Amino acid sequence: MAGTDRGDLTRTAILALLGTVGPLSRSEIARELDLSPATVTQLTKELIGHGMLEELDLKPSRGGRPAQRLGVVGSAGRALGVKVTADHLVLVDVRLDGEVLGSWETPHDPAAPDALDRLAAAVESVVRELSAGPPLLGVGVGVPGSVEDQAVGTVRAPTLGWQAMPVGERLRRRLDLPVLVENDVNALAAAERLYGRGRTHRDFLVLTIGRGVGAAIVADGRVYRGARGGAGEFGHLPVDPQGPPCGCGARGCLEAFVGSAGLLAAAHARTTGRTPGTEPPATRDPLGAVAALGRAARGGDADIRAVFAEAGAILGRATAGLINVVDPEVVVVLGEGTAEWPLWRTGFEPALRAQLYPGRRDISVEVESWDDTSWAQGAAALVLATPFDAAGAAGEQGRLVRARLIGAAS
Ligand SMILES: [Zn+2]
Repeated sequence: MAGTDRGDLTRTAILALLGTVGPLSRSEIARELDLSPATVTQLTKELIGHGMLEELDLKPSRGGRPAQRLGVVGSAGRALGVKVTADHLVLVDVRLDGEVLGSWETPHDPAAPDALDRLAAAVESVVRELSAGPPLLGVGVGVPGSVEDQAVGTVRAPTLGWQAMPVGERLRRRLDLPVLVENDVNALAAAERLYGRGRTHRDFLVLTIGRGVGAAIVADGRVYRGARGGAGEFGHLPVDPQGPPCGCGARGCLEAFVGSAGLLAAAHARTTGRTPGTEPPATRDPLGAVAALGRAARGGDADIRAVFAEAGAILGRATAGLINVVDPEVVVVLGEGTAEWPLWRTGFEPALRAQLYPGRRDISVEVESWDDTSWAQGAAALVLATPFDAAGAAGEQGRLVRARLIGAAS
């Protein structure tokens, strides 16, 4: 296979190194990758010629000549990220260096018989609108479910009503672009690996709170996917067999307590004196309803403050269990629910610290800023990470992304 010769692998390794640790000199690249200086000089010359690397500032050195550092060109490529939800799509156009060039939102019914055709049509209409600039490398799709192989892209997502939906295959055929499909929390972890914690940590957890509860495990610099792409279903950690019913069919899962529907049910029970889970209030906008609870709590409603603190404590205990098992360096909390994090935190912190294994009690839990396009940015990162993915986790579609990057530049 011409596209995967030694030179291609080495070029990818150089991009991977610079894309994940930032600019380095040629001699630093040679040392890190155990390559000869001549090889590094030759391959970086090609990458500069392709417009993928650029020479940056001179790094001062003790004695001798100062070394010229090389960095990845942020405008060498772009990707479209798509987040699929139960009622709409968010699309975002992102450059190789993570800069967001544009975003779009459109209603979408995943249960419609032609849902995938409509999804493809939404992507096509955005592709037609793209401004001049970096070449489009591919499309990343984030879904709230499990994806057996991100390059094949067959999705199982109960909340979308998808059993074995051939998302990747159908979109690729229709769009004639590389398409990578992945669980949405794993996609966020890919973005963290590329632009966030991955620059300084090789082992970290990403937790998401919002409608559901999710986790992604980054172990030794890679997102751990499990045997069938289902790793990280933290929301279905059993908490209480007598607990409220969960969307997965079981009872008392973590998500049934601390997902938005669980929070609303707990608030309803506390304010009306009913048993939790007996009559969950129906709402078409659970995240909006939780935001309203947040306003009530910040306004001084002690009952609602207690609901958030209790949810925080349940999440804190469960998170301690996950940390004890996985042993990450840091935990990053993301998702729509982080808007109310100060309310969660009062319950979360003591419950977490009390349950952590000795020696890990000082682990840092960091909450990052969040906006409506964050999920879609994660999906774009699936594509943007592949030029830096020396291990080839994205398979054939990743190879096609790299071919487009090099083809566009040469
Ligand atoms: Zn469940």
